[in-house]
Amino acid sequence: MDREESKQVGLCASCRHARVVTTPRSRFWLCSLAAVDPRFEKYPRLPVLACPGYEVTPEGGPAPAEDAGE
Ligand code: SF4
Repeated sequence: MDREESKQVGLCASCRHARVVTTPRSRFWLCSLAAVDPRFEKYPRLPVLACPGYEVTPEGGPAPAEDAGE
């Protein structure tokens, strides 16, 4: 992820709860907390500038999603 994309994504870009779904035409940012907490949207509106669920990932980036469904 380059610096420009990081700016467009906001906090999700470095959050441990974020998952990236990549398709041939685009990338979607998914919040895994949405599955267990209704305060969060599965596909948050970007950029996310403030979020009560934000936790920085030790790896410095999101994990790829297992599937691109739903
Ligand atoms: S908890 Fe917040 S910052 Fe983290 S992935 Fe979900 S919406 Fe993005």
